[in-house]
Amino acid sequence: MITAADAEDLIRTSVRRLAPRPVSLADALGRVLAEEVVADLDVPGFDNASMDGYALAVDGTGHGPRRSYAIIGEAAAGRPFTGEVREGEAVRIMTGGPLPRGAECVIEVEKVRESADAISFDEYPASGRHIRRTGEDIRRGTAVLHPGMRLRPAHLGVLASMGRATVSVTPAPHVAVVSTGTELVAPGQALAHGQIHNSSAFVVPALLREARAEVTRVETVNDDPAMLRASIGRALSDDLLITTGGVSAGKHDLVLDVLQQLGVEVIFWKVRIKPGMPLAFGRSARGVPVVCLPGNPVSTAVTFQQFVHPVLDALQGAAVPSTLRGRARLEHEISKKDRKRHFNRGVALFHNGEWRVRTTGPQSSGILTSLVLANCLIIVPEDVEHLAAGESVEIEWL
Ligand code: AMP
Ligand code: MG
Repeated sequence: MITAADAEDLIRTSVRRLAPRPVSLADALGRVLAEEVVADLDVPGFDNASMDGYALAVDGTGHGPRRSYAIIGEAAAGRPFTGEVREGEAVRIMTGGPLPRGAECVIEVEKVRESADAISFDEYPASGRHIRRTGEDIRRGTAVLHPGMRLRPAHLGVLASMGRATVSVTPAPHVAVVSTGTELVAPGQALAHGQIHNSSAFVVPALLREARAEVTRVETVNDDPAMLRASIGRALSDDLLITTGGVSAGKHDLVLDVLQQLGVEVIFWKVRIKPGMPLAFGRSARGVPVVCLPGNPVSTAVTFQQFVHPVLDALQGAAVPSTLRGRARLEHEISKKDRKRHFNRGVALFHNGEWRVRTTGPQSSGILTSLVLANCLIIVPEDVEHLAAGESVEIEWL
């Protein structure tokens, strides 16, 4: 049985990044950048006013303020003033308006006494006051965005401000989901004795969509070798296959056998974690990764968080993991007796200046409601048997 850390390493080293392709900015949100973006423009492209007011020339007269300055024109965003400002003159300017030739500062409108054709004020602004300089945000020639960055709204803004209409990204991974189990019945249908509603066929696709992957198919298959072979065989044409259930050591756990019959190399099976120990990971002859999540619904969701996110990140070449960890103060003790890494469902709240965390109650892997209450997982490392109340513990946000 391998450790969670070794399992993550094996995932990272065996998943190939998808081929990049150009997309328009409007379709780039959440995608991972596949190119180095170098600015070929200065942003802003011209000196401009950061306040509404009046653009003035440098005060070179020595006779100070309080005199009157003649208003000779106006510069607004998108409407430059074409003349030049000289000593004793002012150009009315609005935020974003290009700084007129000869102007060296802007006095804000609130500090000015205005008449029909002149202004006066008490204190001359320092040179450069309320001016946004050419290139102060982005200097032409600098590398602004780097491969592996996940594009958030601000990244799209920066790309747009540099004039980029398209950008090279790795596409959303296309993911097939096959949930296995003869007992599974779709919600909306009545249950015969021994049957249960298929919850993971909803949880896993929803987690995938939240992770900005594209779900191509969701199939539910009986624990029947021929049916499994047909369904899994079809699903191996996508970028990633996720199966649920049928991966423990029971008589009807057929998923690994079927995968191997279809030429999938099993890279690891069973990870030293709780919940979710029987998790498996493999790769098809074509290089398509396959993650076999255990069937217990909580195990399915927790192992998705731990092991599917790294696969999706690796497929997209993400430089930073998409899962977020932090620390919180534990509100009660936690004990365990095995050498597995435990992921307890936790509720973290910010209280009196710090994050405090407690478990959601019973941690059995069949208690799916424990995940509804949770906003994080509390990580109890392999070699830790006891965490005392008040200790600082590692959490992973859900
Ligand atoms: P398995 O890993 O196939 O042995 O399943 C472990 C437990 O999880 C069994 O009690 C299954 O009935 C249950 N289970 C498996 N798949 C699902 C699913 N898609 N939705 C809800 N429960 C499931
Ligand atoms: Mg099963």
